[in-house]
Amino acid sequence: MRTKYPIFLYLLALLLVGCETTKHQAKYVFLFIGDGMGVSHVTAAQLYADSVLNDTAGITFTKFPVVSSSTTYAANRFITCSAVAGTALSTGYKTSINTIGLNTSRTDTLYSIAKKFKDSGRKVAILTSVSIDHATPAAFYAHVKSRNEYYQIARQMLKSGYDFFASGGLLQPYGLKGDTLSPSIFDLGKAYGYEFTSTFSGVDSLVKLGTKPIVYSSPNPAPGSSLNYEIDRTTEGVSLADITRKAIEVVNNPNGFFIMVEGGKIDWAAHDNDAATVIHDVIAFSRAVDVAVEFYRKNPSQTLILVTADHETGGFSIGNRSNKYDVHPALLQFQKVSKEQLHQIVHEFRTSNPRATFNDLLSLLNQYTGLSGSIQLTDSEKEVLRKAYLNVYGSNNNAEEVTTYSKTDPISEYAIQIVNQKAGFGWTTGSHTGQPVPVYVIGVGQELFAPMLDNTDIPKKLLEASGLK
Ligand SMILES: [Zn+2]
Repeated sequence: MRTKYPIFLYLLALLLVGCETTKHQAKYVFLFIGDGMGVSHVTAAQLYADSVLNDTAGITFTKFPVVSSSTTYAANRFITCSAVAGTALSTGYKTSINTIGLNTSRTDTLYSIAKKFKDSGRKVAILTSVSIDHATPAAFYAHVKSRNEYYQIARQMLKSGYDFFASGGLLQPYGLKGDTLSPSIFDLGKAYGYEFTSTFSGVDSLVKLGTKPIVYSSPNPAPGSSLNYEIDRTTEGVSLADITRKAIEVVNNPNGFFIMVEGGKIDWAAHDNDAATVIHDVIAFSRAVDVAVEFYRKNPSQTLILVTADHETGGFSIGNRSNKYDVHPALLQFQKVSKEQLHQIVHEFRTSNPRATFNDLLSLLNQYTGLSGSIQLTDSEKEVLRKAYLNVYGSNNNAEEVTTYSKTDPISEYAIQIVNQKAGFGWTTGSHTGQPVPVYVIGVGQELFAPMLDNTDIPKKLLEASGLK
């Protein structure tokens, strides 16, 4: 016994030293979620940045030291939705389709890591390029049976006590149509101590007044209370990078913070099968990550940045059946607007030019997509567009169709389809797919995130990396 005792102490000491060296303390944690952003979305954006924009930095998060991937399936369906994938990323649990922050049978509450960070004394900011009551941001503060309960979700946002919310706005701040009894989210928010503003100078003044929780909404939201698509954004428009920078200013403090940033419209553009718009939104998302990287460079020993997606959207491919081995990303530079905005332009053109000829329409398409100008049309492509023109001009409502997150018409639909096809990009669906998604990590605890993960591992490892496990 005498001889074994010192050896035991020695081993214990070794164990303690081992524990000490693996104990992580990320004080500043960023979680970036590119909604619908599969590997192909990132690769296409990288290809476009390299070959068309000559942007040597490109999609910088692809150069993070740890690159992994994650499965995304839901509890009751292989192909997930944003509510379930958001819940997995925020709580570490799978749930059933359309559920947010509740278990599969919707009987128990699942708590988000954002709440754990808040309870530990850190400040919390939730940011998105869509509305703040949408599924992904909601997964970080709400518990509802259906992701469509926007008013209830917004009420729960106010009860979270988080420090900063920023987005395009709210979908149902006054409750359901016809509901005159429910107080508005703005009135309720004031009762909970929240201040609302649509300007960054408003945010600055509120910060100067103290540490009041703030809800910021874009002053000129796009449809769906969202930020404009990057391809449609004017210089006055607010970007995801702008709100990320502002969030850091608001929540940076010696106790640390947790910031979730969603690039929500990558998914919307992918539902629309609109490659150029996806690519520009991935680039905008990457610029938001760059803001976090600037912060990391100043605090490398205390910061962790993780970039991932909730699921893949569109079955997006680089390469398609008609182009075979040829890809021409440069053709996408002639597309000046999203398909959603092209629909608006076509609609207005038809209203103001009810007698426009097919050639007038081709000039319009040339202006906004390059078709019939820099991008030559074959006879059969022209025929497809002519039929679309006859359909739209012969219809009472422009042959308008409602899609997942926008409206379209046959002219816009076929024009963007032709651009995608000629540029060499392909789509297999207008919905999500079950493909794994990429994970990119830099900072304290980065080594925890390899090899391949399930999306439920990510929040657990973020807590571990923050010393909160
Ligand atoms: Zn989606």
